[in-house]
Amino acid sequence: MADEDGDTIFGKIIRGDIKGPPFLHEDDKCIALKDIHPQAPIHFLVISKQEIKTIDSINETQKELLGHMMWVATKVAKDQGATNGYRIVVNDGSDGGQHVFHLHFHVLAGRKMSWPPG
Ligand code: AMP
Repeated sequence: MADEDGDTIFGKIIRGDIKGPPFLHEDDKCIALKDIHPQAPIHFLVISKQEIKTIDSINETQKELLGHMMWVATKVAKDQGATNGYRIVVNDGSDGGQHVFHLHFHVLAGRKMSWPPG
C-alpha cells in the first residue's frame, strides 16, 4: 500500500512520523524491525531508507544496497537467535504478493520452512 505520492507506512516509520516497532538495527542505508504480523517465531524486516518501490525497480547505481541489506539480514538473524537456519524473502509486485511498496526483505526463522512456498 502507498499514498498517491508513493509514501508508505515504512516511509512514515523511518522518518519518525508514526511510531513503529523498535528498530533492531539502523544505519545510513536501512533499518530492521519486527514484522507486526509474524509468520514465524522470528520474523523481521530489513527496510531500505531510500524510498524504492520494488526490488524490480532497482537500477545499477543502487545494486550495492541489496548486498548491504542481505548482510544486515544475516547479522540481525544471528542477533535474534536464528541458530538453525532462516529464510530471506522478497515479495515483488502483485504476483509476488507484495503489499507495502517500499523495498524490504523478510527474514523468517524459528520453525521448519516448507517448499514450494504458497
Ligand atoms: P509485503 O507483503 O512483502 O509487502 O510485506 C509487508 C509486511 O509488512 C507484512 O508482513 C506486514 O505484516 C508488515 N507490516 C505492515 N505494517 C507494519 C508495521 N507498522 N510494522 C511492522 N510490520 C508491518
